[in-house]
Amino acid sequence: MVEEKTTELFERVKNNLPSDANISDIRFEGSEIVLYTKNSDFFIKGTDTIKKLVGTFKKRIILRPDPSICKDMEQTKKTIKKIVPKEAGIKDITYEPEFGKVVIEADKPGLVIGKRGETLNKIKAETLWLPSITRAPAIPSETIKILRGLIHKDSKFRKEFLHKVGKNIHSGWKKTDWIRMTALGGFREVGRSCILIQTPESRVLLDCGLKPGSNEFPYLTVPEFDINELDAIVIAHAHMDHAGIAPFLFEHGYDGPLYCTYPTRDQMVLLCMDYVQLMQKEGKTAPYSTKGIKEAVRHTICLEYGEVSDITPDIRLTLLNSGHILGSAMAHLHIGEGLHNVLYTSDMKFDKTALYEPTSLNFSRAETIIIESTYGSSSDILPKRSEAEAKLVQVCKDTMKKKGKVLIPSFAIERSQDVMVILERAGFKNTIYLDGMVWDATAITSTYPEYLNRDLQKLILQQGHNPFTSKIFKRIGSMEERKKVLESKEPCVIVATSGMLVGGPSVWWLHQLAEEKKNSIVFIGWQGEGTMGRRIQRGWKELPVEEKGRTRMVPVNLGVHTVDGLSGHSDINQLQNYVARLKQIPERVIVNHGESNKCTELARTLHKLLRCETLAPKNLETIRLK
Ligand SMILES: [Zn+2]
Repeated sequence: MVEEKTTELFERVKNNLPSDANISDIRFEGSEIVLYTKNSDFFIKGTDTIKKLVGTFKKRIILRPDPSICKDMEQTKKTIKKIVPKEAGIKDITYEPEFGKVVIEADKPGLVIGKRGETLNKIKAETLWLPSITRAPAIPSETIKILRGLIHKDSKFRKEFLHKVGKNIHSGWKKTDWIRMTALGGFREVGRSCILIQTPESRVLLDCGLKPGSNEFPYLTVPEFDINELDAIVIAHAHMDHAGIAPFLFEHGYDGPLYCTYPTRDQMVLLCMDYVQLMQKEGKTAPYSTKGIKEAVRHTICLEYGEVSDITPDIRLTLLNSGHILGSAMAHLHIGEGLHNVLYTSDMKFDKTALYEPTSLNFSRAETIIIESTYGSSSDILPKRSEAEAKLVQVCKDTMKKKGKVLIPSFAIERSQDVMVILERAGFKNTIYLDGMVWDATAITSTYPEYLNRDLQKLILQQGHNPFTSKIFKRIGSMEERKKVLESKEPCVIVATSGMLVGGPSVWWLHQLAEEKKNSIVFIGWQGEGTMGRRIQRGWKELPVEEKGRTRMVPVNLGVHTVDGLSGHSDINQLQNYVARLKQIPERVIVNHGESNKCTELARTLHKLLRCETLAPKNLETIRLK
């Protein structure tokens, strides 16, 4: 049945092409249709014909060269270097022969593309390869290198996999007459976010995280969930409480697609790798290995913000900016040809931050909204961002004057880059050391400037000033380097993981810096109950430090500061503003991702505001949406 549908669709596409198009292969790539041609003239000039096809079939259609017509690889390299201006800074040229693709990595992708794509077209015409451009990381990073190698090496597998996904999407749609949602995790709690959306045709997971600290899983043993029946996973952003168990699912039989943005894919690898290594270091068994992480990457289909993509016969997915971390997204599901639309906000920030634009309002309809409630109580009002930023700068400057060192325990992703941009923008002159995973996370951020807010994009892409590559930032990669910085008299700032002083280099730094009054520690994120961060914040005066098998008590004399207001989550005012700005009042709002009382309180508040059905379900509840 599926085979028949596919053959029939492909025949119809072929019949709409000129007789000499010489198509050697036609196949799916996810929701797209890809044609391979042996006619070089058609490959170069067929753009208009393809555009017409797209209009007829209402599908994305791509034309590629059959590998047999592509020019010799060495020759192609020379030709590209001749055509592209030197200032583009080409860093690498690699090939994916199975896709007829040449991948050009450059410092300035815009110059490889040229005005209205002129340079790109020239490359295409002279080499008969389809050029694909990626931005070279402004900061060298091993993680990005490994990741890009992984994707390019696997093109044979990817080709088969993407075709299989496409066949499922196009397997025919009968009728969608019901839609339901099951809360598998992250309801009336923060952590292990996981939602199952079901229709007669589809089973889709929105996020699949684990609970930080306890590492608890979502409820995957419920009758509603069958890993063998799952059609797609959508990951809203890379935080472990949203993406942490994706590799586990791939190690336990899931072999379908995972949808997310490009930065989410990269950061997910970084965080999951770190998680596995940390578990090993602590002598625990991680629920999955690096094999599961690799499998997740092999099965990932990246979407840009705003790109509409069919993911099952009756669900169309669009990812929209959520303003929370790099590449973080809300998932908009258009179900059953518009029968019902669901917006899953995941974690969102409805305010412009130093790094990102506020959460997007750019979708036409959403009858059901699933919204987070981290700061869902009426008393959850964060200080103004400008005040928080000013306070951070002040503490750092004051400590420099006293010739001390500032320790900022921070999450590797988002908050660290936030601090970097705030201090750089304030004209901070002293060295800021980046310890732990912060460097790799920054390297990933520097690869995707188009995901940053407009001011930063303008600064980086038009004015050529990249705050992340400023000379004030230096990497600390080893214990030797750490000791060198410690021994030096130079006042400085150290941004180190983990953010709550539970493992990672930030703990080592605290032990070294605690005793001296001239030093400071600045907490820039929420400190969990039972963490060392919370204890220091509460005024602990002594710190037990293990040294050569003995415990020594270190007095805590350094200045302790907390800067609230840099959160990547919306506070209660921002949550209310967001729903108040929606184009249409939804039929129903479902509240999740918050402690129990925050979920119920936000549900009540939004009911008063919108006068629609609002719910704060518990984990394991199933709700019929239509
Ligand atoms: Zn998050």
